[in-house]
Amino acid sequence: MARIIFSGGKVFDGQDVLPGDTTVVVDGDRIVQVGSAVAPAGDEDTLVDLTGKTLMPGMVQCHFHTGFGPDAGNASPYLGLNMPPAYLGMVAAKNGQIALDFGVTSIIGSSNGDLLDVCLKEAILLGLTKGPRVIPCTREIMASGDAADGDSRSWFMGIQNHGLARRADGVEEVRQAIREEIGRGCEIVKISISNGHGSHPIPDWNYYTIEEIQAAVDAAHTRGALVRAHCPSRSGIIDCARAGVDIIDHADLIDDEGIEAVLKADATITPSLLWTDRFMSFAGSWDFALGPFPIGDGFPESQAKAEARIEAIRRDSEYTLGMFSKVREAGVRLVLGDDYGFAMMPHGDYASEMALYVKHGVEPIEVMRWATRNGARAMGKHGADLGAIEEGKLADLIVVDGDPTSDVEVHRNPANVALVVKAGVIEKDLLSLQ
Ligand SMILES: [Zn+2]
Repeated sequence: MARIIFSGGKVFDGQDVLPGDTTVVVDGDRIVQVGSAVAPAGDEDTLVDLTGKTLMPGMVQCHFHTGFGPDAGNASPYLGLNMPPAYLGMVAAKNGQIALDFGVTSIIGSSNGDLLDVCLKEAILLGLTKGPRVIPCTREIMASGDAADGDSRSWFMGIQNHGLARRADGVEEVRQAIREEIGRGCEIVKISISNGHGSHPIPDWNYYTIEEIQAAVDAAHTRGALVRAHCPSRSGIIDCARAGVDIIDHADLIDDEGIEAVLKADATITPSLLWTDRFMSFAGSWDFALGPFPIGDGFPESQAKAEARIEAIRRDSEYTLGMFSKVREAGVRLVLGDDYGFAMMPHGDYASEMALYVKHGVEPIEVMRWATRNGARAMGKHGADLGAIEEGKLADLIVVDGDPTSDVEVHRNPANVALVVKAGVIEKDLLSLQ
């Protein structure tokens, strides 16, 4: 049977750069050999010369909103309601194609309306469109009065259960919402724990009680689904980790107790600091002579009120950055992913998040570990055979010009991603192999 044989360049296996003479062999959907002693290529085999290039595992985007895109999904608070579902489906298909083009072979959904993630997954499996493997997410399960719940702003439109938001109060409603959404094909549940991360200051109270969080985790885990939580608050991080939430999104106000709880639970954190960074830049450059600050709380704000809010967000952001190295050094599993497609950060802008972490002291090779090995771990059972170049693993592989383990900027231009292989199938080929 025809094999794909990679040799002659750098191999990053998801953890380390392997010795220079390493050859990697793919047969069918699996990596069958990694080493220097490889049987000679047959006539049918495809040879990939890695000179000047790096072979690495396909990357995982762990916080992915399939429906966020051009003129769609950006109008808070009903993310996804402001455009027709058919249009959002096309946005989702395009976002999947963009991700694959940049070398992302797996995505973990992070809440979407209209069952977009489930539909995208099925469409890719059927060959209707190209894209990464998808772990489809539910809508964002949120309590009444959540900042993104229609009740807190345009309550008069009665749209609290549309778009990205799904309202559920109390243990029974939370269970029911999760049972229903998993029944429709979702494999990860998103719950909203507190306000904050980027556009609002973080309160010291949570939308959901520990009982509601526990009910969400139990309902999901019983059905083999993962749980993730939008969770900026200090106590929310601790509650979520102790309840068994698998992915804690943002974790802005994590403290020592939170770090300990997250480590004990073996949970994953998506810092997603790019959105906060972009928001602070935008806020810092806003000219109030043009009008009220446009990312607000429903009503137009006075300049004084907006400035006070932005200042509070800045303090939260500085705290998060101050804790960042401590969280890393404690050994918390961190991954990549952010609100791409939302304002100021289009899908495909993944290198900006990577570069931001490098700017804050993370070695490029460590960022690549987050993008591959850690991302696969965050996928739970779905990632057991992913995120590493090892014999027996699924062949989700990319060939990148240059060396991303020393310079993450190579990921800024998809032209640098010469080859994308997903489960042994060549999905993108700039090397004219076929
Ligand atoms: Zn998000």
